[in-house]
Parts: sequence; structure tokens; C-alpha cells
Amino acid sequence: KNQNKKKTKNKKKKKANTKTEKEITFKQMPIISQIQLSLEQQGFVKPTEIQRRSIPPFLDGKDILGNAKTGSGKTLAFMIPCAQLLHKGKFQPRNGVGALIIAPTRELVLQIMKVAEYIMANQPQTFGHVIGGTDKSEEARKLRNGVNLLVATPGRLLDHLQNTRGFVIRNLQCFVIDEADRVLENGFEEELTQIVKYLPKKRQTVLFSATQTRRIKDLAKLSFKEKPMYIGVHDDQ
Ligand code: ADP
Ligand code: MG
Repeated sequence: KNQNKKKTKNKKKKKANTKTEKEITFKQMPIISQIQLSLEQQGFVKPTEIQRRSIPPFLDGKDILGNAKTGSGKTLAFMIPCAQLLHKGKFQPRNGVGALIIAPTRELVLQIMKVAEYIMANQPQTFGHVIGGTDKSEEARKLRNGVNLLVATPGRLLDHLQNTRGFVIRNLQCFVIDEADRVLENGFEEELTQIVKYLPKKRQTVLFSATQTRRIKDLAKLSFKEKPMYIGVHDDQ
């Protein structure tokens, strides 16, 4: 019965299709029950456009260059797939980092951590952060104990990659750069170049930004192996 419904939908004109798509709920997306519960607990019902368009290809392992203005919901667009991939991979503390998220400032890292807390509340995988200006040895201890989803500022992350023994990164599945435009503005290009050298080559890379610039394209070249899927959400759509 469901199949028939789908077929009918596909036959409709593009405009009608767009409207139908906009009305979908998280429940209708391929998201595991643990995360559905987290979304429910937060009162989130419908995905925003960037979430609706990014989550399925992200879960399929595609490299993505996502572009949508501030406030469009980019955090959940990468947090939901990261949490789900960790669950699917049955990550345990000893497997180390499976999802790595880089953000340009400490404040942003802490904001992303709040989202990690509620999205990952119903699954066993661990999460944590490393940021400049805090106790490095305490961070190193956490990393050695096994952080499955790690949120970090570039400088401190590179420091740990270079100096923290027992920091397991070889199982990394996805690498996310949030606010890539600001990462570049803050002068972290060199750190990023170095960081990428420590990451396993066989991984998924996802880059989110609020603006589209020449430098983002350069960063994309540095981070992606092949041409990523471009997902742009603009006001006129
Ligand atoms: P961006 O990173 O694109 O600037 P955020 O991820 O910070 O946007 O989200 C902006 C705000 O929208 C946050 O307060 C967040 O909780 C809220 N939000 C995100 N996704 C949804 C959704 N699907 N439904 C309702 N609110 C949402
Ligand atoms: Mg954001």
C-alpha cells in the first residue's frame, strides 16, 4: 500500500512534490528509534530544509558541502547522522573517535556539545570536547578513556593529535567542519591542513558554512577526496 502511495506522489508535478517534501516529519525519515526519542523529548517534529536534504545523503556515506544561513538548523543536520553512524558501527569507548566535529570557537564547541547531549541521550556512545584554554591533561585522560563523538577547536585538536598518546583516531568514520567560513576567518587553515594528515583516508567528510566563498572552495579541495555533493538552501527556494 505504501509503495503505491509513493508512486502516485512521484508522478505529481514538481511544485506539489516540493510542498509534500516540506511537510515531512522526522518520523518519516530513516532515523533510528533512539534518536527519534531524543527529538521527541526536545519537541522537534519537522526537519528544517537543510536537515531534510542533508540527513539522508549523510547517512548514505556521501561527502557533503552544505550551505545555509545562520539559524537554519545546521547543527542537527550533522549531529543526527553522526550519532546514528556511531550507533550503527556499535562504537565502544575503546574504538575511540568515530565522529569528529570541528568548530571555530570554544563557545561554538560548547553549543554543539549541548546538542550532542540531548541527541545522544538514548544511546551508549560517548561524547566529549577539547578546547583551548582548558586543562590539557584532563582532556588527554578523557580521550584515552575513549570519546566516540568529539567536538573540538582546531588548535587544541591538533595539539592532542600530535602529543596525546592513546588518542585513538584510526576508526574515524566522519569528519565534520562546522562554520567552515569562520574557521578560515579565524586563521585555522594551517591547523586544518595538519589535522587532515592525521585522519584516516577512508572517511566521510562534511563541511557546513553560512556563506559561500572562494576560500571555502579551497578548503573543500583540502578536505575532500572527490567532488562533494553540494546542498545549498537559499531564501528564494
Ligand atoms: P545554524 O547552525 O544553522 O545557525 P542551529 O543548528 O544553531 O542553526 O539551529 C538554530 C535554532 O533552531 C536552534 O535553537 C535549534 O534548536 C532550532 N532548531 C533546529 N532544528 C529545528 C527543527 N527541526 N525544529 C525546530 N527547531 C529547530
Ligand atoms: Mg551553526
